Amino acid sequence: MKTLKDIDLKGKTVLARTGFDVPIENGKVQDNFRITAGLETVKYLLQNHCKIVLAFHIGRKGDKENPALPVAPVVEELKRIIRDVSFLEVSSWAGQTVKRMAQGLREGQILVLENLRLHPGEEKNDDHFARELASLAEVFVQDAFCVLHRDHASVTGVPKYLLTVAGFLVAREVEELDNATERPTHPALVVIGGAKTETKIPVIANLLTRGYDQVLTGGVVANNFLKNQKVDLKNSTVDQEYLDDAAAIWDQFQSKIILPSDYVWSEKEQIFDIGGETIRSYEDLINAAKTIIWNGPMGVFEEDKFRAGTLRIGQAIAVSSAKKIAGGGDTIAALREFQLLEQMDFISTGGGVMLEFLAGKELPGLKILNK
Ligand code: ADP
Ligand code: MG
Repeated sequence: MKTLKDIDLKGKTVLARTGFDVPIENGKVQDNFRITAGLETVKYLLQNHCKIVLAFHIGRKGDKENPALPVAPVVEELKRIIRDVSFLEVSSWAGQTVKRMAQGLREGQILVLENLRLHPGEEKNDDHFARELASLAEVFVQDAFCVLHRDHASVTGVPKYLLTVAGFLVAREVEELDNATERPTHPALVVIGGAKTETKIPVIANLLTRGYDQVLTGGVVANNFLKNQKVDLKNSTVDQEYLDDAAAIWDQFQSKIILPSDYVWSEKEQIFDIGGETIRSYEDLINAAKTIIWNGPMGVFEEDKFRAGTLRIGQAIAVSSAKKIAGGGDTIAALREFQLLEQMDFISTGGGVMLEFLAGKELPGLKILNK
């Protein structure tokens, strides 16, 4: 994979696609983790006297929890973090005016395009839109790890028309996740919980196939296996659609998939956390591990009564001497709340894309970078 360092960028006009998809509330960035993770690339471009056209997305059209919003709050946050740079906002993406502005950029100026996903061409991977974006610069730097599983214009479209290299964040994410999947030190553990079963079962299957030693389960993911074991789950959430998938990997890897042995029940008779006995046995396995990948909370940690499982498993991972990798939007939120983020060796900025990577799926955006 070619990166920034492999080409001569000095003084060039660069289209930088970053993953600044951050939560915004009342016009303010709530958490700038994905911005700080991408700063190394932006700073390197500035040091190399590049003229930067910056493009990224926020949220998704039609997504109520995470809507596609204009980029202004992110630009405010960037101004706060990067000094001595002037940001030019255009509330557009392409066309003659934008092109002229890109051509007229001076050193120390960054032209920021509007949220890519507010343009209908982005998600459709419209060829005309990709060409227009490509025409703004001489080099394309892909640093948005969080979208490499998407076939969008700024992921797979632009590289057709412009010399493309990976940014530092993409290079680091790929290296860390590749090492963790291909060359883990043993015992290698996956701790997996949370709610989105469909994205997690393929991860369990792939990592066990690649020689991971054990999977510790919690959350709705565990419920799916427990249901197949005829455990009475009362009103607990189960993903009916994925029971067969869970049964299939159980048949193949039974001895390696560890299920909770006790639970914390909600008033409505739902399993909302793993119990004390389970926590203790998971702690022992975590202590002995040399590689740990963690995705998905063990319970409904957002409520005090059900946070102990996630907190204690998080603490055990934090103090373990293993190589520790974590990712997933809610997992990172839990780590932040428990002040354990700093103690991980690597935090992935990709949610869905990390899971697809760990599941061994081919990522269209990565395939192009590897060409
Ligand atoms: P991540 O974003 O880290 O990949 P998910 O999105 O898959 O994780 O799941 C996180 C959500 O799962 C949290 O909001 C948490 O409350 C919920 N959750 C965890 N355990 C349970 C459970 N037993 N029943 C219902 N929801 C759960
Ligand atoms: Mg989530």
